Amino acid sequence: MENVSLYFSDQGEIMEVRVDHEDDRLPVAAGPVIPGMVNVHSHAFQRGLVGKTQAFALAEDDFWSWRQAMYTFVDELTPDSYRKQAEALYREMVFHGYTTVCEFHYLHHGPGGARFSDISSMSSALVDAAKAAGIRLCLLPVLYVYSGFDRSPLNHGQLRFGNSVDEYLSLVESVFALKKDYPLLDVGYAPHSLRAVGESEMKEVLVHRQKYHPDSPFHIHISEQISEVEECVATCGARPVEWLTDTFSVTSAWCMIHATHVNKKEISAIKKSGSVVGLCPTTEADLGDGVFPFRLFAESHPGKGFADDENDRKRSVGSFAIGSDSNVSVSPGEEIRVLEYVQRVSQRTRNIDGIVSTTGAATRRYLSAVCGGRQASGLENALWNVGTVADLVILDASCPLLSGLSPDEMLNAHLLSGNSESIADVIIAGRSLR
Ligand SMILES: [Zn+2]
Repeated sequence: MENVSLYFSDQGEIMEVRVDHEDDRLPVAAGPVIPGMVNVHSHAFQRGLVGKTQAFALAEDDFWSWRQAMYTFVDELTPDSYRKQAEALYREMVFHGYTTVCEFHYLHHGPGGARFSDISSMSSALVDAAKAAGIRLCLLPVLYVYSGFDRSPLNHGQLRFGNSVDEYLSLVESVFALKKDYPLLDVGYAPHSLRAVGESEMKEVLVHRQKYHPDSPFHIHISEQISEVEECVATCGARPVEWLTDTFSVTSAWCMIHATHVNKKEISAIKKSGSVVGLCPTTEADLGDGVFPFRLFAESHPGKGFADDENDRKRSVGSFAIGSDSNVSVSPGEEIRVLEYVQRVSQRTRNIDGIVSTTGAATRRYLSAVCGGRQASGLENALWNVGTVADLVILDASCPLLSGLSPDEMLNAHLLSGNSESIADVIIAGRSLR
């Protein structure tokens, strides 16, 4: 749409959208206005590992050896250094066009698991960081109980993450109380993974959520590694997503982070639940996780298996979002680019969802990811409805990369060939931040 006037409320929501309307009182945007991206999965402290984990001491260096390096690094962080690092990171995210970050937060305690006097010290550090950067935050305190599917106790590197369910629920309540200090804060629950949380603990958390915060987001890491899938089959008798969707009432408030190794049956179960898949393309590529079956996901039909006609397929492209996870990249464009290109290479085709459209692939991917991200972070799954958040990115039509292109071409160029230089402004809750 062109010639559009956008009006925001004092609460930072879209109040009115007028098409074919010029209002002299409004500033003219420097280029196409697009919704800001939601970063559906971040571990802020892992930004400190960037550049330090690329020399390999093992011929088989993989996710698990990277994780060991991450545990060593964690020991250095205090609430104050955590806040500083997260603030710098969140400022970078805003600069590159993220307007919300879902922080999957599991660094709760001091070295060796020593408790701080305030259980939410590390959570408060993240809220302070988001406030300083102006980014919308969906804070997801993480429950971490066991070191593996065999329910063995946490190892030394994991002691800073661990809580009993009672401690965890008390932490969750303390974090909900922080909402009064920051209007752009929402809070959800996050059992770390099926390897770190058992069925009984998960049930207790879900009962608490149902009783006290029934609409809150619920995120979990799932099926990131093949060995995790194999261990789940060996101990639970089913694959992770299969077991999860058979055991619990999975809803549209859930977000399955990664879901890299899923089969057709599991994809159908995800679609039927209405939950969002949180893809983290740069981290999944960096860690050698594997390739999400995007084409199967796009073609599956909720509840029935696979769509057999073009219209069904158009309707059933799944809900997904993108996340920066380890923060090896903090650019939405780079996430879309890696997602798009890894799929093109692995499918040996350019049209990775098989949908014929006059809109560019990167534009479609971007807008889908915004909708999925908004749903997974507790916001309305919509782009321009009255009452939706005024979280926007304004492209710079005058920069050399974008000049002479149509609005759709500009967004495709920005996502696949540009970076922050093609962004003129980032607006969160109606406030300009760049
Ligand atoms: Zn993660």
